Amino acid sequence: MANEPLQGQLSLLYQLQERDQELLSVQRKLQEIPSSIEQLEAGVVQSEEDMAAKSSELAETETQQRSKNAELEMNAVQREKYRDEQRVVKTNEAYDALERQIEYLDEVDGEAEDTILILMEKSDQLKEELAALEIEVNREKQKTASETAKLQQELKDLEIERDEKLKRRKAFLPKIDKRLRDEYHRWMKAQFANQSGATRAKTGFVALSKNGICTSCRIAIQPQTLKEAQKYEKQVYCSSCKRLLYVEPATPDVPFP
Ligand SMILES: [Zn+2]
Repeated sequence: MANEPLQGQLSLLYQLQERDQELLSVQRKLQEIPSSIEQLEAGVVQSEEDMAAKSSELAETETQQRSKNAELEMNAVQREKYRDEQRVVKTNEAYDALERQIEYLDEVDGEAEDTILILMEKSDQLKEELAALEIEVNREKQKTASETAKLQQELKDLEIERDEKLKRRKAFLPKIDKRLRDEYHRWMKAQFANQSGATRAKTGFVALSKNGICTSCRIAIQPQTLKEAQKYEKQVYCSSCKRLLYVEPATPDVPFP
């Protein structure tokens, strides 16, 4: 296999690179799905928290209502006491003093009743909002459940796809000269070692050249280099991006890439 002409080897290496790009894209999707699921679930948690906050606001409002009602009841008892006292007092001054106390209670009650009305309106409003929120949360839960199930199915399908691609890759690999594929693997591995390299890896190690241009970096290849590469006698690299050039043959009857 090591004796196979270089052009055939470049073609095979380029095919491997194409397969690997597909594999990488499957791999990327596989990595993205779990975080998509997490995001969906976080949305439901947020809505549930909103609902809990509204619920406690309602509870607080109802507590305030009860305490105002208790205040009215206490005042009623107090008023009854004053009236009883009025029946037994001996002087007009004492009677009037009690009357003023009763009037004061009436005034306080009036304020409490106004507050109760406002609180009642507020709880009605909160109950309405809570009911709407509950419908929304349930809808969101259902949507999340079905979307999560879809994503999990996608995950399974992608895992199967990845395993099949890996199996085919393994069977394909021996067709390529070991030295050449080692070089390819070293280059790819080096790219993935850092962030900017990962972007470089997306266009691969083998660069096609058409019309005298390196399709990876878009730089024109020097005529001398191009002529040499078209002989397919030795590996020629792009002077700009340092990728291994797989150039379009000088004779158009040879299949390319
Ligand atoms: Zn280049």
